[in-house]
Amino acid sequence: MEGWRDVINTDEKIMKHDVIIIGAGVSGLAAALTLKKRGASVLVLEANDHVGGAAHGVRVDGYLCERGPNTLMVSSPEVETLLRKAGLWDSALDASPHARKRFVVQDGCLVALPDSPLSFLTSGVISWGAKLRLMREPFISGGCDDDETLAQFVRRRLGDEPLRELVGPFVSGVYAGDPERLIVRHALPRLHRLERTHGSLIRGAIKLGRSGPSVRRLISWPPGLSGLAAGLAAPLEDEVKLSAPVESLKKSGNVFRVVSRQGEFEASSVFVATDAVAAARLVAPFFPEIAPLEQIPQAPMAVIHLGFPRAGVSHPLDGFGALISRARGIRTLGVLFSSTLFPGRAPENHVLLTAFLGGMLDREALTLDDAAMVRTVVNDLTPLLGITAAPSFQNIVRWPRAIPQYERGHQLLLDACVRAEGEFPGLHLLGNYRGGISLGDCLENGRMLGSP
Ligand SMILES: Cc1cc2nc3c(=O)[nH]c(=O)nc-3n(C[C@H](O)[C@H](O)[C@H](O)COP(=O)(O)OP(=O)(O)OC[C@H]3O[C@@H](n4cnc5c(N)ncnc54)[C@H](O)[C@@H]3O)c2cc1C
Repeated sequence: MEGWRDVINTDEKIMKHDVIIIGAGVSGLAAALTLKKRGASVLVLEANDHVGGAAHGVRVDGYLCERGPNTLMVSSPEVETLLRKAGLWDSALDASPHARKRFVVQDGCLVALPDSPLSFLTSGVISWGAKLRLMREPFISGGCDDDETLAQFVRRRLGDEPLRELVGPFVSGVYAGDPERLIVRHALPRLHRLERTHGSLIRGAIKLGRSGPSVRRLISWPPGLSGLAAGLAAPLEDEVKLSAPVESLKKSGNVFRVVSRQGEFEASSVFVATDAVAAARLVAPFFPEIAPLEQIPQAPMAVIHLGFPRAGVSHPLDGFGALISRARGIRTLGVLFSSTLFPGRAPENHVLLTAFLGGMLDREALTLDDAAMVRTVVNDLTPLLGITAAPSFQNIVRWPRAIPQYERGHQLLLDACVRAEGEFPGLHLLGNYRGGISLGDCLENGRMLGSP
């Protein structure tokens, strides 16, 4: 790539680079690393005093508390390649084999989800009537409404019960969202594509299964997902400036001028890799059509880490965790068995649980104080996990805007992003409000934008 190569213009004290990346979350870091490997001079400006954005764990009293994401599911060769290039593939920790077992709540107990079609048929997670209804799925014709919600889609193809018992809890776990409002083609594009490509989810899943194994690895690193961020940032060395919030972005001629608390910078290309609100505020002054991005619905979430002496929890915790259907009347959205998933998450003879409150259907949960949050989660989990001791450790993280929701009108926001990039060549917008919220999606989108 041709460019300015870190020229310092001494007259104006403006440092020039090929590319400036605003935001050092995993999206921005993946783009920065890819651009650097292609020979561009990059500068990453990050508001926080650490890289990783939401992917950030802290160790407190011997417990590793992930503030945001807990696991990275690698399911694309592109993400595998990126991790290999960053030297992160071999150092990754695979989740415990127990993680394949996922629980839901039925009749006041944790029930393992079936892991094969045969065990699904014999399990009681949905009724025989609902199973018979599933048999009709391959014969149901495709939908044509681009704004079909996830709930409408699942009801149409699979019926009410799978929506309530399986898809609803899954959506709480991933989006903290409301299936009645999420638009299926944006929120779960792979599911939507199965219908569009194969005419049926069941037929599509069988065909994909036959086409051979794809990459699939559920991982983290010894320091948690901070290890991912640190590994992506390591080759960038001093090209990452921390505590450098960008205050304004302007385009003048072919040049973007970026004003941050750590100085002014210029580049021929800028990647805005922040959350939706920050992106809207930075870009709207020269492209007002992007302003509605600031209003994208965002699920609030509280992450409650609880530590117990091992003997204080009678459940074997032999799984990934539990998802809880909203129909159960239980406030806790779900719980991860964090100390089962990866080693070194809790002090010896102790366990770490990570529970979630809030989401689009319970925004008020975030107004609870710490004691009320802990009480709620402990009360909810006590009968499910056989808790007999008070937590010996607690740590709470509040996210007023945890996860952007791809709801009705999302396409308009995506269109505005494309128009902004068209009108201002060199401008790129990336982040979890666009193209997927999972870490895997953010890494893949960052890598892709960094290698056009
Ligand atoms: C509680 C929680 C649990 C989750 N669990 C999972 C999970 O288990 N698995 C999974 O795959 N995904 C999970 N996710 C989703 C995933 O973590 C996020 O979608 C992803 O990390 C977003 O990455 P990003 O780089 O796009 O944005 P962010 O991580 O938000 O990074 C954006 C960065 O931009 C910086 N920034 C903002 N404004 C400015 C500015 N003006 N100047 C400079 N810098 C700025 C921010 O400080 C931040 O570092 C979870 C998210 C949350 C909140």
